[in-house]
This record gives sequence, C-alpha cells and structure tokens, in this order.
Amino acid sequence: MSTIKKNIDKIYENIIKNDRELSDITLVAVTKNVDEKFIKEAIDLGVKNLGENRVQEFISKYNNIKDKSINWHFIGNLQTNKVKYIIDKVCLIHSVNSMRLANEINKQANKIGKIQDILLEINVSQEKNKIGLPKEDVDNMIKEISKLPNIRLKGLMGIAPYVENTQDIAVFFKTLNEIFIDINRKSTDNINMSYLSMGMTNDYNIALQEGSNIIRIGTGIFGDRS
Ligand SMILES: *Cc1c(COP(=O)(O)O)cnc(C)c1O
Repeated sequence: MSTIKKNIDKIYENIIKNDRELSDITLVAVTKNVDEKFIKEAIDLGVKNLGENRVQEFISKYNNIKDKSINWHFIGNLQTNKVKYIIDKVCLIHSVNSMRLANEINKQANKIGKIQDILLEINVSQEKNKIGLPKEDVDNMIKEISKLPNIRLKGLMGIAPYVENTQDIAVFFKTLNEIFIDINRKSTDNINMSYLSMGMTNDYNIALQEGSNIIRIGTGIFGDRS
C-alpha cells in the first residue's frame, strides 16, 4: 500500500476515533511544496479538496492539474492585489482577516458574477506576530460583511499557536468554537455559518474534539516538506 494511502486512511481512522462522522468532516489536503505526481495520487485515492497558501504556486497547480471535480481552498495570507488571480478558481477562501480584503473579494467576485464563500481568520491567541482578526473586531466585521452581496461568510478559521502544552491548544480551539456558536446564535441577517476550519497535522485530533469540521493537513498526508 502507498504511503499516501496509509496516511489518508490513518486520518479517517482518527476522525472516527474522535467520535466524529466522516461525512461531517472535510479533509483539505494541503499541497504546498508537494510534487504534482503525489497530488494526483491523492486525487486518485478520492481526495476532493486541495489547499494552497501561495497565489503563484496555487495557479500553477490549478492549471497543471486541470481537474474540474477538485475544490480548491485558499488558506494562506492573501494580498488584496492578488485576489483577481484566484477569484474564479477557489471554492473557499479561509484567510479573510480585514475589511480591505473582504471588499476586494466582493468587488472581484461581482465582476465575474460569483458569490464567493469565505471564512474569517481569527487570531484568538493575540500573538503579535500572528495574522488574523482580533476577537474583539469580529462582531463589527461580520456586520460589515453581511452587507456585501458577492461574499458569503461560511465560518471561521484559526491556526493554533505553537505551544508544547496540548491543553493550551485545546483552549485555543475551544475559544474559536465558542465565537462560532455565539455568532450563529446572534443570527445576523445573511449570516449562517457552517464551517469551522481548524486543525493541522500536529493538532487535528484536538481540533476534532473541539468541534472542527474542516481539517487542513499537509505533512500528515504527503510527508515532510523539503
Ligand atoms: C501549511 C498549512 C497547513 C498544513 O500544515 P501541516 O502541518 O503540514 O499539516 C494548514 N493550514 C495552513 C494555513 C497552512 O499554511
């Protein structure tokens, strides 16, 4: 059996071990720095969702892989001047962290007659070097986003801080889930969030326990990036 198949099977096994339904969880295979032949292997094994974090690399993979059945997720920091290059290619942008970016996505989506699904990237841990929207700005931003006709806010995304203590990571994911539940409870017009994108190779088991329904896994599928 191939390593990639073994790795993917292991992830499915862990989803079940964490008492989650396979049908409730979207596995995004993160393909940054991964050779296209391995990406094709993952696709042949049934992977339908691929994630990229750099615009140039994403476009080159998108053009070479040319598979209409793939859902491409943009998960990295996105500069406003590059939105126009990806808007017609992505199913979900995970990393929206400013109104400036949201407005540009709305504008470019409008140009091609699309309603773009997005997630807000939240910085729960308030680390200064982390990208993401501070918790206290979330409510305002949601109100503003709800007015944009070519954006549909579908949920939240978070990247756990690098810490040793598993308990701290759990607290981070728990907080993100509480914000998620809270926003849905307030039921702002036009906002009905369903996705909570949290969990990478090293912490997806904790994320699954804390309510994640999109996990973004690179190393855990394709091995170490060189
Ligand atoms: C690289 C990356 C991942 C995947 O990381 P792994 O540790 O390789 O699983 C997930 N999310 C984002 C935003 C990334 O940039």
